[in-house]
Amino acid sequence: MYVHTKIRHDEILHFVSTIKYSKQIIVNEEMTIDTKESINARNGDAADPHVFIKSLPKVELHAHLNGCIRDTTLFELAEERGVSLNEHHFATEPTDYNNSMYNVRPRSLQDCFDMFAEIPKCVDDLVALARITSEALQDFAKENVVYLELRSTPKQLLVATSGSEIAEKRDYCITILKSIKDFEQRDEARYNQELEKGVQFPRVPMMCRFLVAIDRSQSVENAWEHVQLAENLKREFKDSVVGVDFCGNPTKGHFNNFQAAFQKARASGLRITLHCGKLFARYNLPARIRSNS
Ligand SMILES: [Zn+2]
Repeated sequence: MYVHTKIRHDEILHFVSTIKYSKQIIVNEEMTIDTKESINARNGDAADPHVFIKSLPKVELHAHLNGCIRDTTLFELAEERGVSLNEHHFATEPTDYNNSMYNVRPRSLQDCFDMFAEIPKCVDDLVALARITSEALQDFAKENVVYLELRSTPKQLLVATSGSEIAEKRDYCITILKSIKDFEQRDEARYNQELEKGVQFPRVPMMCRFLVAIDRSQSVENAWEHVQLAENLKREFKDSVVGVDFCGNPTKGHFNNFQAAFQKARASGLRITLHCGKLFARYNLPARIRSNS
């Protein structure tokens, strides 16, 4: 389950209704919907539900960067780095990438966390981080996402693929934020070019925002560090950093221990997202949500 402590619908609707691209979008109170003409122009038959759904401009508020890694990229990075992925989750010699990541079906909650723990073995430097960020942005844009919130837990990665210099967590975030800025500039330029060329319904450029994640399986001191990092980045990158996220294995840590850090984040103008309710236990929920459930 995913909870925004303050629903951002107003802002999203304001965004889609006021930006200069709004002539391509019809906005009602519930959803933003492409015109039939633009669906037909870009993707073919609007009567086909797959075409129609793909064509809808979308708002994606729950994207974990590592969870968005392309299968092909994961296996390429593993090969480049000589990393053996856990055979319990991944095929040892993947020939069919679409099926190679899903050795365990159905996966337990623990399987999911174990599987995700494999990804940092391959995304172990800033070069790979920039690559997976850029690819994730391309993939969301291809699905016609117009507003994306990408979240990731800052880590200390290697600066380069060769060498042993370790980067700061701040460098991790800046690598993502620069990839976002680069993508937005390119997408904006692509859109303007298509307009100039007279393309009737060019894809609306995607806007992306970043959340600094706080992993509940790590220490409370780590949470304070990430809040401070998010506050600093928000000042530096202004609109690009919108909040902090409470995430990680729900069998570890307790929200109460992290509450003060999140209150500080709120006080400094950051928004909060919380992962909760993954276990069938009321104690897993923050008190305020628990009292309302
Ligand atoms: Zn999540």
